[in-house]
Formats: sequence, C-alpha cells, structure tokens
Amino acid sequence: MLRIDITPSERLQRLPPYLFVELDRKKKEAQARGVDIINLGIGDPDLPTPRPIVAALCRAARNPANHRYPDSEGLQAFRAACAAWYARRFGVTLDPDREVLTLIGAKEGIGHLPLALVNPGDVVLIPDPAYPVYQAGTVFAGGEPYYLPLRPERGFLPDLGAVPEAVARRARLLFLNYPNNPTGAVASREFYAEVVDFARRFNIIVAQDNTYSEIAFDGYRPPSFLEAPGAREVGIEFHSLSKTFNMTGWRLGFVVGNATVIDALRRVKSNLDSGVFNAVQEAGIVALAMAEQVAARNSRVYQRRRDILVRGLRRLGLEVQVPRATFYVWARVPPGHTAASFAGLLIERAGIVCTPGSGFGPHGEGFVRFALTADAARLREAVRRLAAVLAG
Ligand code: PLP
Repeated sequence: MLRIDITPSERLQRLPPYLFVELDRKKKEAQARGVDIINLGIGDPDLPTPRPIVAALCRAARNPANHRYPDSEGLQAFRAACAAWYARRFGVTLDPDREVLTLIGAKEGIGHLPLALVNPGDVVLIPDPAYPVYQAGTVFAGGEPYYLPLRPERGFLPDLGAVPEAVARRARLLFLNYPNNPTGAVASREFYAEVVDFARRFNIIVAQDNTYSEIAFDGYRPPSFLEAPGAREVGIEFHSLSKTFNMTGWRLGFVVGNATVIDALRRVKSNLDSGVFNAVQEAGIVALAMAEQVAARNSRVYQRRRDILVRGLRRLGLEVQVPRATFYVWARVPPGHTAASFAGLLIERAGIVCTPGSGFGPHGEGFVRFALTADAARLREAVRRLAAVLAG
C-alpha cells in the first residue's frame, strides 16, 4: 500500500514536548496503579466559578442573538468592562475600541502575538524559566528565542543590562510575566520603568503577562505594566479571567495597551478564529464587576494554603520562598536530586504531582513547582507523605 509522508512540520519538531502532556501521562500511570494522587501539577483552580457568573452565562446562552458568530475583536460591552476594571484597579485609562481586545484565553493571544509582529530570524526575548507558550508562539512564527535567566539572587527579575547589545538590537519582542509563573516572583513599578527605558532604547515591543495579578497575599497589590510612564507607547499587557474567577475552562482573556500592536494581533485573529462565544463574554462582564470581591476571597483561600505548604516544606528542610502572589510555590530540590528525579520520586513514592522546574527552561533546574490547587486538608496530607519519603 502506498503511504503518504506525514512527518510533522519542522516548526513543530523544534518544540520540546509540551510539559503538561508529559506530566499527565505520568499521573495516569500512577492512577492506573491505584495510587491516590494529590495533584499540585497544573495551575488549574480547584474552586468553582462563582455562581452569579454561571447564572449570567445560562441567561445569555438562552438569547438567540448570541448563537451567531461573535465579532473576533470581542463584544464592545465586554471590552468596555475590561477598561472600567483597569481604571478601577490600576488607575489606567483605556479606549475600549482601540486599546482592548478579547482573547480566547490569554494563551491564545500570547501564542498568536509573534505571528503579528515577528519576522523569521527576529530575536524574541523570553524569560527562563517561563510559561512555555512564549517560546512556542515564537518558534511558530520563525522567531529566534533568546533566553533571559531568572535567578533567585535577582528576585527572579531578568537582568536587562546583561543582554548583549547586538542581541538587543535584533530583538523585536520581549515577553515578561509578573506575578510570575513558575517562581511566584513579583515586579515593582520601578522595574517596569526600567523595562520601558530598555524597550525605547532598542526599539523592542513589550508583552507583559499579568494573568496572576489578582492572586496576591498579605495585602500586596501587584501593579500593571501600563502604570509605568510611557508603557503604552512600547507595549501591551495580557489578562485572563481563568485564574481570577476560576474560569480556566471557559476560555476568556483580554489584552490591553498599545493600539497598533493590538490592531496587528486583531488582524491575525480575524484570519484564524471567530472570537469568544458572546454568552461567555456577557458572563465575563458580570465577573469583572465583582472582581474585587472574588479576588479577595480567592486570595484568602490560597494564602492559607500557601502558609500550610510553605511551613510544611520548610519544616522538612526544603528551601522555599514565601510567594507574595500567584498560587505557585517554587521550592529548591534536596541535594543530590535534579528537578526531574525529585518530581519522579514524589509521584512514585508519595502520589504527589508537582512540576519539575526544568520543564520551564534550563534555569528552572534544581527547583520544583507546587500549585496550590488542592484544599488545606490535602496539602497537609501532602506534607505528611513528603515527610515519610524524605525520612527515607
Ligand atoms: N499566562 C500564564 C503565565 C499562565 O500561567 C497561564 C496558564 O497557566 C496563562 C497565561 C493562560 O491563561 P488562559 O487560561 O487565559 O489561557
């Protein structure tokens, strides 16, 4: 029989295997052996979407006007709600028509952004470790990733001054993500001001990912990149309803900032997707109106969980920072282990799924990430199991 060649494209082959697929496979193997798994692997909230948001979706789903194709840039009313929230939360004024774009989750916008801005061979500056989609989108667009190490001694902020000038001159785009996945680090307004200077000097577009801005602890309120003077001239900021409102399954996010960048992304999107179900955006309007209340409630829950896990890990002798934001705990692995060997040990001997830091980039080696997506009792159980494993 004649067989056709179905070798995947070179761009697909340039990607490492998607981290969470690998993890999922290991988890399923353990489950098949009957292990009771405590899943602290993927950053997917275990809490439900608040009821008024679900009720709004049900109402909106009954309206036949919503059964037709949405506009790919999103409902005007949803974009206006995003702008209103930005004004309330960050004191940043946005034009909903030119400076806000609805996304099918932040992931979609991040993945598509390089197609809008990057030519083959252009450099894209990407943090290491990082959420893997910055790299995937860059590779798909034919861009060349240049990795910016995030080191504990710099508070996991990149050293922009260490980027060789020849590289910076070839760079088209800089991805940033604070509050940070996977390290839990945060960035100050002063750091964002430095980023604006760097972007101006080398003519680089900045894409800051603020997906975790509403999960923060001890009274801390993460800023927006757009609060920095001049930020809107050089960049954009991604947001998501996924983590703030426990809506990962709904696929709703948005991007704000520089109107020219937003228009380029809108043009890519209008060629590839047909936007977000209008009913989901209507529910998103209800969500954004209750953002303060939901964020405060969720952050209280995660803060309690953070304290249980961090205290437990420290008691066992692991080196852990106390995150001020995000629902991730970034822990150094015990001496003698790599990230992968420690994560493997935890899944096999303790039924605990965590993510090896090396899956987020070479500078994640030596760390594992725990997501605080299990309740307090399960986290206590995880600490007990860990204690047993580490006791040997
Ligand atoms: N950005 C970061 C840093 C993330 O960690 C995630 C999800 O884990 C996303 C974006 C994706 O968010 P969304 O569900 O809106 O696509």
